[in-house]
Amino acid sequence: MQVLSVASECVPLVKTGGLADVVGALPGALKAEGVDMAVLLPGYPAVMAGLGAGAQEVLAEEDLFGGPGRVLRGTGGGLDLMVLDAPHLFDRPGSPYLGADGRDWPDNAERYAALGWIAARIAAQGAAGWQPDILHLHDWQAGLAPVYLRGMEGGGHARTILTIHNIAFQGLTPANRLDALRLPSAVFHPEGVEYYGQISALKAGLVFADRLSTVSPTYATELTTPAFGMGLDGLLSARAADLSGILNGIDDAVWDPAADADLATRYKTPRGKAANRAALRAEFGLADAPGPLCVIVSRLTEQKGIDLVLDTLPSLLERGGQLALLGSGDAQYEEALRRAADANPGVAVRIGYDEALSHRVIAGGDAILVPSRFEPCGLTQLYGLRYGTIPLVARTGGLADTVIDANPAALRAGVATGVQFAPVNDDALAHAMSRLCDLFAEPAVWTKLQRNAMKQPVGWATAAAEYAALYRGLEQAS
Ligand code: ADP
Repeated sequence: MQVLSVASECVPLVKTGGLADVVGALPGALKAEGVDMAVLLPGYPAVMAGLGAGAQEVLAEEDLFGGPGRVLRGTGGGLDLMVLDAPHLFDRPGSPYLGADGRDWPDNAERYAALGWIAARIAAQGAAGWQPDILHLHDWQAGLAPVYLRGMEGGGHARTILTIHNIAFQGLTPANRLDALRLPSAVFHPEGVEYYGQISALKAGLVFADRLSTVSPTYATELTTPAFGMGLDGLLSARAADLSGILNGIDDAVWDPAADADLATRYKTPRGKAANRAALRAEFGLADAPGPLCVIVSRLTEQKGIDLVLDTLPSLLERGGQLALLGSGDAQYEEALRRAADANPGVAVRIGYDEALSHRVIAGGDAILVPSRFEPCGLTQLYGLRYGTIPLVARTGGLADTVIDANPAALRAGVATGVQFAPVNDDALAHAMSRLCDLFAEPAVWTKLQRNAMKQPVGWATAAAEYAALYRGLEQAS
């Protein structure tokens, strides 16, 4: 089976969040399932640079939303790549989505419309003899592909699946861009691509893709409710039978405590934790402390509950706990975190994005905090599990699906792996921190939590089998 995965970012070439990890990991994981997956990416400078020598042009278009574009097929980052080389859209420095002023590029709608258009062309007509049976589309950036596919000759060949990694990003554009985006006016209505008077690329995908998925079973259910659906809950309820939740895995070769070359001390058991924690304290300028060293690796946004952590810090510090945070994002949170670090010797903060440091932070922490208001899947709690760094998480989305709360029954049964809290507010988080400190104060209980956590399978095998089954189901239905 041949599948073209279509996304705006992909590890190891370009990453701003968990989406990139998923897109980069799936092709390798799916090989074992007999799926041949290529990845279509925009030709940002980093992607063009990562494309190995010998890439071939397999498709060209003279006018691709304001300039010429062509598709290069080759390998890069260990992946079978199709790269949309369209300099007028993608040859820009910095973030894939934002200009130097920190705002979305004004032509983001056209940039990703071009990605969807080219995906549809490859699916409808093939590219140098390769034609996918399935288009696997990720998030709003690929959302228009199923609409384009319907209008193209050969468009019936491929089936489509759209995966929602985060419904907060919907790809909205004013309605007067309909023509510019090559969208027929017939699809601009509430049962089509219209979203409160605008065009939504995500909604287009949700309406027109054959199947939908998201990255955890709990988020799949949450998305059909007003509290989480962000205005698309009605549509998702109506399509609930087509919507699956498949939990992300993590790359367990990249996140492997036994082989992680970036760590000061390699370890296979929780016993190695002490050395990594000491190294992390030294690196962050933290003294020894009697309570748990809590860590966070995160985008600093409202979604991630950073304000809740700031509010409840005293309940951790009073118990002799500490916080070491690596993150970047909204200026208000960066500033507040810097102030908290200045005011408290038990708090240390690194503002920035640093992959290697993120490994040392997660390896050295006793616990990792993920108090997200919503979390489609979440990856850092999975890294935590693998490294014996006990996750303290909000009971939402994939966090609810991947952590077993250390309540009395789970402790008795010997299956607990972390701490969950709900609702997502200051009181509940403070209470959870206090529970975490209680657990940490009992070494036998804590060690058992660590061992359970480290035993939990967090690789891609399960997800790969589930995606492969989804693809096969789609193929059979066609
Ligand atoms: P999201 O995609 O919403 O940001 P996820 O938990 O799914 O959240 O994925 C976040 C990914 O980005 C993880 O791989 C995490 O380690 C990484 N990450 C986030 N912030 C940083 C940072 N400041 N430095 C290094 N890695 C980071």
